[in-house]
Amino acid sequence: MLNHPRTGQLFDSPVPPGAGWPGDPATPETPQAVDAARVVQLADQAASIDELDALISVCRACPRLVTWREQVAVTKRKSFADQPYWGRPVPGWGSPKPKIVIVGLAPAANGANRTGRMFTGDRSGDQLYAALYRAGLVNQPTSVDAADGLHANDIRIIAPVRCAPPDNAPTTVERNTCAPWIDAEWQLIAPHVRVMVALGGFAWQIALRIAAGQVPKPKPKFGHGAVAELGPALRLLGCYHPSQQNMFTGRLTPAMLDDIFGDAARLAGLRG
Ligand code: SF4
Repeated sequence: MLNHPRTGQLFDSPVPPGAGWPGDPATPETPQAVDAARVVQLADQAASIDELDALISVCRACPRLVTWREQVAVTKRKSFADQPYWGRPVPGWGSPKPKIVIVGLAPAANGANRTGRMFTGDRSGDQLYAALYRAGLVNQPTSVDAADGLHANDIRIIAPVRCAPPDNAPTTVERNTCAPWIDAEWQLIAPHVRVMVALGGFAWQIALRIAAGQVPKPKPKFGHGAVAELGPALRLLGCYHPSQQNMFTGRLTPAMLDDIFGDAARLAGLRG
């Protein structure tokens, strides 16, 4: 067992449900989905975001991803060798009634898979949360661990795959197995959402799919700064993913992120 870097509490890696990890939505009794059919069933039954977060956080439906996320949690990156790793699926983070939803991809092996919170503890998250702070959408510019005091102001971050995949590449079967979770999440939050921000082309496709029924024809194409009207009160904005590669090469800059999240805040009615 190792000490949580902020609270000092001792945890196994991966963290058992209900062991006291900051923000852990599950208990030891939370039912675990062990195959795709059970994901469909449990996702369909979730009556609230809290319930859905708990169910997602103990899912074991993709054998390859369960093995990988738990293996990374045990072996750890050298620089985090003194920390416990979450090693479980990462639920959506932020408001249960968001006006803005940010769609990502999948947790990073040594980022969210370590900290248990979306985009927390990796370089992409450093860029994303700093930009969200500058736009007034979170209360602090840094996101280090799940007990660092970060709060969302009217936003939620969701992802189509909840477990860290090897080489950041989930298979089609794994993506399909995980899809009912994000579909259920969308059903619960959709009435509140005014703006979706898709981080990259794949997230753009996911955003169009989950908002199905409101997608204009021809299907809108992804681009950084692209805007799609998905209905009278829902817009989708495209944004390059704040990956280390995109930021390092200058394809995406902090100023470009500021433009997107400034627009998102205005379109959502959060800023004049
Ligand atoms: S990727 Fe999704 S469906 Fe697969 S084990 Fe993780 S949470 Fe469950």
